[in-house]
Amino acid sequence: MLLTPGPTALPPSVRESMSRELVNPDVDPEFREIYDDLTGKLARVYDTDDDVVVLGGEGILGLEAAVASTVEPGDDVLCLSNGLYGDGFADFVENYGGDPTLVEAPYDEPLDLDALDSVLADGDFEVATMVHCETPTGMLNDVEPALKRLQDHGALTIVDAVSSLGGVPVPTEYIDVGIGGSQKCFSAPPGLAPVSVSDAAWERIEAVDPDSLYTNLLPWREIGDLFPYTHLTTLVVALDEALSLVVDEGVETVYARHLEAASRCRERGRELGLDVYPDVERSSPTVTAFHVPGRAEALQERLDAERDVTLATGLGDLSNDVLRVGHMGYNADVTKVDEAMDALETVLDDAE
Ligand SMILES: *Cc1c(COP(=O)(O)O)cnc(C)c1O
Repeated sequence: MLLTPGPTALPPSVRESMSRELVNPDVDPEFREIYDDLTGKLARVYDTDDDVVVLGGEGILGLEAAVASTVEPGDDVLCLSNGLYGDGFADFVENYGGDPTLVEAPYDEPLDLDALDSVLADGDFEVATMVHCETPTGMLNDVEPALKRLQDHGALTIVDAVSSLGGVPVPTEYIDVGIGGSQKCFSAPPGLAPVSVSDAAWERIEAVDPDSLYTNLLPWREIGDLFPYTHLTTLVVALDEALSLVVDEGVETVYARHLEAASRCRERGRELGLDVYPDVERSSPTVTAFHVPGRAEALQERLDAERDVTLATGLGDLSNDVLRVGHMGYNADVTKVDEAMDALETVLDDAE
């Protein structure tokens, strides 16, 4: 059982879709229909009229492309952060010559809106970045108040929603560039990055006119006869099937299923005496991080070896302190959560 916070287990029909005959993305008009169909379904999940494009690369490509396409050397960029991915945006900004101002909060605290207000009062920012769900800590950030302030400020907003899009409503109306990932709440294989791009974002990208090809969103604005490069046909077919499942089930029903799985996971954890990191109220419906200081790696190994259940440890400073259960996409399922928690229970019992 693969219950990591991405990649997730794949639904059978998604796996089967990958064994269909290959279509040539540049020659066969059918591929273009599949792609357009996919971006249409994605727009329904994003709940937006903005353009949605699908890049051929892992979620990280989406993050880098968002920065590379909107940030020019010398630009002031505000990076709001309370986690590893939030901090990582500042590195991308520096790599592309921008001047990042990192407005940090501790990894177990919410985004710091007071610090944001004072920094906005003193500065003039072209672009701002933040993360919706900080997967390494399992925290779902309340991004809307920050996004509204940034919109009033006139900054273009970039949001990493890789581990929330498709599992939790994302406030796309305040987002100029919103990045998702195929391997998280959509339960398709890793390798594709959906990106929503607002009109304001396209205007800025046109003005920036990025030099690169691979991290440039501009060639995706109007795909003529050819994609910017050979598209990852098999993955596109798989993601399209995954999106069909989401749309057929109904996006609201999918969100409710995530909430149900998350609450079961936390209830079972409570019964086992496990605390949620940093606390239940701020945890994402897509992932639960249990606080197991100094024990995460040993528990992960035993679960894998003895029960064939794969969970994730923490990352960075928290690597051995949190054990993360991904209940996203196909894994947002009470029965699967129960099986994983049953396994965790036996491993914890034996450890005592
Ligand atoms: C998974 C994830 C990404 C993509 O990175 P990976 O290389 O798959 O880890 C980006 N941002 C967040 C918040 C993620 O959870």
